Amino acid sequence: MAKQFRTTRIEDYEPLIGAESVERIIRKARPLHDFHVTNINSTYYGGGVAQLLTSITLLMNNLGIRTGWRAIHGSPDFFTVTKKMHNALQGGDINLSQRKMDLYEEVVFENSIRNHLDHDLIIVHDPQPLPLIEHYRKRCPWVWRCHIDLSQPNRDLWGYLTRFIEQYDAVIVSSRDYLQEIGPPQVVFMPAIDPFSIINRDLTEAETTERLHHYGIPTDLPLVVQVSRFDRWKDPKGVIDAFKLARKEVDCTLVLVGNVASDDPEGEEVYDSLLENREERIIIHSIQDSYLVNALQRRAAVVLQKSLREGFGLTVSEAMWKGTPVIGGNVGGIRFQIDDGINGFLVSSVEEAAQRIVQLVKDSGLRHVMGQRAREKVRQNFLLSRYVEQYLDLYSSFEPVFRLRAR
Ligand code: UDP
Repeated sequence: MAKQFRTTRIEDYEPLIGAESVERIIRKARPLHDFHVTNINSTYYGGGVAQLLTSITLLMNNLGIRTGWRAIHGSPDFFTVTKKMHNALQGGDINLSQRKMDLYEEVVFENSIRNHLDHDLIIVHDPQPLPLIEHYRKRCPWVWRCHIDLSQPNRDLWGYLTRFIEQYDAVIVSSRDYLQEIGPPQVVFMPAIDPFSIINRDLTEAETTERLHHYGIPTDLPLVVQVSRFDRWKDPKGVIDAFKLARKEVDCTLVLVGNVASDDPEGEEVYDSLLENREERIIIHSIQDSYLVNALQRRAAVVLQKSLREGFGLTVSEAMWKGTPVIGGNVGGIRFQIDDGINGFLVSSVEEAAQRIVQLVKDSGLRHVMGQRAREKVRQNFLLSRYVEQYLDLYSSFEPVFRLRAR
């Protein structure tokens, strides 16, 4: 007999959000039963989008909405171009040559041939698969879900992408600061964490210690941690510099753990550029182990997310959920998670980050109070149940279109 598995159900959230909220979500899902939705992005693994899709697709299916997930395929040079686009959407420069545009559009076209879409709703994530919409006869609503920090997009690139974006029926962004002047209606959905995932579920002290020791991470001194894809926007070098300054005043160990997403060809280079900083108290690992992420965020005295741009930053809410105060870059979605001086700190420089590390490492009382507030902030605002409900509301707004399709 096949082994029995179980995935998270909305009822599991009841102790966290109350019975009334759970019932409301079930009620909203009911008229949408059997709707067929697909999500299209560019990687099954690594990064927040894959993390969100992993959890939300399962929960949606348990709510009766047939929700799938496809990832587009592309050669490394395709992902080199799309990573340049990602960087430019976050404010970097790009030389938008004809060659790049042709490669981008051609690979997406090839993906359209392989993907037969006959759904009630299609959600396209981020710029990589954005032009897909050009290649289908449009028979249902298409939504573009952009997870990127759009506070200062490169104007040339935005102008080019607008041609595709304008064809969508709605656009979802992660913060009100990212709203753009475009035709399609826009809604703001801040991402959220899955409290039952391996990254976020409760771990005992013994399990936590076991994971850290498995990787040779010393637990004799307070841990200062950043867990992030190796990406220059996450400012890992700034974290190391801040730690070196802080260590002049307090004894602690820095652990930088990161992974490299399959759609991010720059990760290896960023990782390599950090290695010369390795020493006994500066530990840098490129590994994917969700238990380790959980253990680090849980055991850390302080978690950093010193990003220079950040669409949302799931790692911030993940650590806050574990009662760990976070020092975050004062940018993008981080500013909506951390209330500066209340449940963590927002910083704009290496020096400021260093000062806050010293302050938190020295003061366990402050860590405790901030940590408790941090967990409550996440419980009220950043659990996946809220995110699912926003999607249900969006789906419902398309119901008249669904009914027409059913005829
Ligand atoms: N993550 C992980 N291992 C790593 C680095 C990151 O599992 O080495 C996870 C992290 O815990 C979070 C997600 O990947 O769930 C990253 O999402 P976030 O929004 O913080 O950043 P993104 O990578 O999407 O820019």
